[in-house]
Order: sequence, then structure tokens, then C-alpha cells
Amino acid sequence: MKIKTEALVIREKSIGDNDRLVTLMTDNMGIINAFAVGAKSIKSRRGAASSLLSFSDFTLDKKKDSYRISEASIKRVFFDVGSDIESLSLAQYFCELSEYFYPLDEYSKEFLRLILNSLHFITTKEKSLNMIKAITELKIAAISGYEPNLISCSGCGKFEDSSMFFNFSDGSLYCSSCADNGGMIQLSPDILKAMRHILYSDFSKIYSFSLSENNMKKLSKVTERYILYHAEKNFKTLDFYNSIKQ
Ligand SMILES: [Zn+2]
Repeated sequence: MKIKTEALVIREKSIGDNDRLVTLMTDNMGIINAFAVGAKSIKSRRGAASSLLSFSDFTLDKKKDSYRISEASIKRVFFDVGSDIESLSLAQYFCELSEYFYPLDEYSKEFLRLILNSLHFITTKEKSLNMIKAITELKIAAISGYEPNLISCSGCGKFEDSSMFFNFSDGSLYCSSCADNGGMIQLSPDILKAMRHILYSDFSKIYSFSLSENNMKKLSKVTERYILYHAEKNFKTLDFYNSIKQ
């Protein structure tokens, strides 16, 4: 059976001298593994299309539960050997997050679009890595069923305060009068505004906001803690990214 799909390669593994096993984030079948036979041969058109962080149109042969790439045509290659290690490791963290959180429902197209947009901004260097990381983490959480409710204080409905407090466990927000001290993180008005922008703007505008780089770093720490809390695990690609980040 032949199947067509658009997919991003989020993991690759060499098999023997010539072949590759790739993990594909598809637009219509979730995350699957597929064999790219002969992919490591220089002449192979499947080679580049099946390399890590390439986005391609694939035709797959399905036999029982396994897939084999029969044709591939590249749409975009996000990284090459010249990419800097910090950008590449952030991209690999997004791949690991995707394997863990990717939804098998109508939200998968939005998820894939988010990752493609984030990879685009990493490679063009138009946005800071802290910003791209924060947007990607918070949106992944929201798409995957952990959307925080940052509209107003869950206790009294207040929209703004000198500081607001974010409760990780249920994603709720409290003003300074309603917050208790247990397990909440303080958000400055600027950071709360950025988080509201990411969550509530039209998708095409989520990468358009400004914040000082120092606040962007703080925002990225908040979104990181939030996604790790709900993943209930650590990601080794994130640990690596944090260890080399300037
Ligand atoms: Zn309140």
C-alpha cells in the first residue's frame, strides 16, 4: 500500500552501511518510523530528504506495521553541517519534545506548523533563541492539553497586578492578594503580557512581540519549568542545550 505524507525528520539512525531508519513527524499519521533503503549512498535522492531536520514530501510503502520510503522530494532542509551547535541543539530539543507530546488528532497540523516555524526562525536568526524556545514550549503545552488559563486571577478575576502568580500544576493565575505561597511562580507584568500574547494571539502573530533579552531569558525559564512539570521527565537534549548556552 502506498501512502503520501508531508513530514519532518526528527530522528535518524544508521542501519548497516547504506540504510537509515528515520522517525517522521507527519501531517496526517502522527509520528512513525520508516526505512530509507540506500539513503546513505551519495546518489540517493532519498538521502537528503531523509536526513535530520529535513522537511519533505514522502511516498511510503506500508507492509504490516512497517514503512519504507519509496519516493521523497525535499521541500526544506533546515540545517547543514555549518549550523552552529547552540541552534542545532535547540532544534534537537524541539524534536525530542515533539516525540513526547505530538498529538494524534486534528491538532497535529498546528503542532507541525509550530515546529516548522520555530525551525525557520532558528535558521534565519531573526529571533533570539530564548524567544523561540519560550514560544515553542508554551504553545506545545497548550496544543497538547496543558493550556494555562492566564486571562485573569482565578480567585477574584483581577486582570493585572504589580505581580501575578502562576500555579504550574493546573496552569492557573492569581493576583497578589489571592495567591498562596505554595508552588507558585511570580510573573512580572511584562512576562505575563508576553505569555498572553503567545497563547491568545492569532497563530501568524505569535513570534511578533518584544521583550528585553533579560526578560526573554526569564520567560524561557518559566515556560521550561512549565513544560517539564507536565512532561514529568527531563529531556537530555534540553540538558545539553542548557549546558552549552551562552
Ligand atoms: Zn485575585
